[in-house]
Amino acid sequence: MSIIHYPLSIPPDSAAKQAILGLDRAALGAFLAELGEPAFRAKQLITWLHRRRELDFEAMTDLAKPLRASLATRADTRLPPLVSEQTSADGTRKWLLRLACGNAVETVYIPEPERATLCISSQVGCSLNCTFCATARQGYNRNLSSHEIIAQLWQAQAAVERLDLRPVSNIVMMGMGEPLLNLDQVLPALQLMLDDCAHAFPRRRVTVSTAGVVPGIERLSEECPVSLAVSLHAPNDALREQLVPLNRKYPLEVLIPACRRYAEPAGRQVMFEYVMLRDVNDAPEHAKQLARLLAPLSAKLNLIPFNPVPGIPYQCSPPDAIARFRDILLKARIFTSVRRPRGDDIAAACGQLAGEVADRTKRSARMRASPGLA
Ligand code: SAH
Repeated sequence: MSIIHYPLSIPPDSAAKQAILGLDRAALGAFLAELGEPAFRAKQLITWLHRRRELDFEAMTDLAKPLRASLATRADTRLPPLVSEQTSADGTRKWLLRLACGNAVETVYIPEPERATLCISSQVGCSLNCTFCATARQGYNRNLSSHEIIAQLWQAQAAVERLDLRPVSNIVMMGMGEPLLNLDQVLPALQLMLDDCAHAFPRRRVTVSTAGVVPGIERLSEECPVSLAVSLHAPNDALREQLVPLNRKYPLEVLIPACRRYAEPAGRQVMFEYVMLRDVNDAPEHAKQLARLLAPLSAKLNLIPFNPVPGIPYQCSPPDAIARFRDILLKARIFTSVRRPRGDDIAAACGQLAGEVADRTKRSARMRASPGLA
C-alpha cells in the first residue's frame, strides 16, 4: 500500500462566473443562450470539456474567438483538486478530492481483469445511519453538486490516462452518501456520464445504489433509468429496521413493488446487495425468506462480506456460512454472487469510505427535520 499527497492549491473564488462542468447538455445550452449563442454549441463545448478534458477556452479552436473570450470572462472550469491517492496491494486506488468548506470526498477505482469500476460519492457523509456503515459514523454535512459528482469521474479519467491504467468501463454510485436523496444534482451528473459527447457510458454500465428511497426510485425510472442496486441486507422488516433505519419510512411491502416496477421495462435490471453479518442476518432461515421475497422479481443478488469498520461491533459471516447462504438461494433459482472485497487494506472497500466531514452539526439538524430518516 502507498499514499501520495498532492500539493493543494485552490485558486481564489470568482463569484461572477458560472461553474459549467456540472451542467448537462440542456443546461449548458441554456447558459450559452444567455451569451447569445445557439444551443447546438453546447455539443461542441461539452466535447471539449468532458471528452477531450480541455479546460482552457483558448485551446477550443473550433469556437469563434469572441465566444472563447466571453466564456473566459463568464464561465468557470475549475475542478475540486485531487489531494491524495492511496494504492492497495490489489491495485484498487482511492482518491481524495478536496471540496470547498474544508470537506473532502473519496472516489475508488477498482481494476479487474475484464473491466475497471469507478465508485463515486454523492454526498459529504450520509444521513441514513445504517448501523454497519463507516460513512454513517462520519455524520452528514451536505449534498454534492453535480459539478462535484462529475469531477470525480473527470479526475479519475485524467489519472487513469496519466498512470496508464485500464480505462473506466463501469460506474457505481456506491461511495459516500445516498444518491436518491440528492437527485437534483445526481441526475445532471448521470446525464453527463451517458451523453455521447461527454463520457458516453452505456446505460447499463452506470449503477445507482440506494438504501431504498422509494420516491427516488420512481423519479430515476422516469428521468434517467440506469441500472439500479438496492441495499437490502435483511429479508424481513423487523431485522431490516435495525440495520437500515430508512426501512421504517419505506418498508419492504412498498420497496419491493417499487423495484419490480423499475425492472419491468425490457433490459432493466435490479440488483440487491446483502451484507453478510455473522449471527445477525446469515442463518439458513434468512436465506429461505430472502428467496421467497425475491422470487417474483427475477433479480440479481450480490452478497457482500462485511468489511470491518473501527468502532462497529459486527463481524463478517464465516466463509462456510456465506457459501451455505448462497447455495440456498441458488437452489431457489435466485442468481446470486459473492462480492470479493477490494481495497480493504486502504479502507476503500464497501462501507469503509469516510472522507472528511467538516461540520457534523448539520447532521442533527437534518435528523430533526426528517425524523423518518434518523
Ligand atoms: N446509500 C447507498 C449508496 C452506498 S452503497 C446505499 O445504501 O446503497 C455502499 C454499499 O456498501 C451499500 O450496499 C452498503 O450497505 C454497503 N456497506 C456499507 N457498509 C458496509 C460494510 N462495512 N461492509 C460491507 N458493505 C457495506
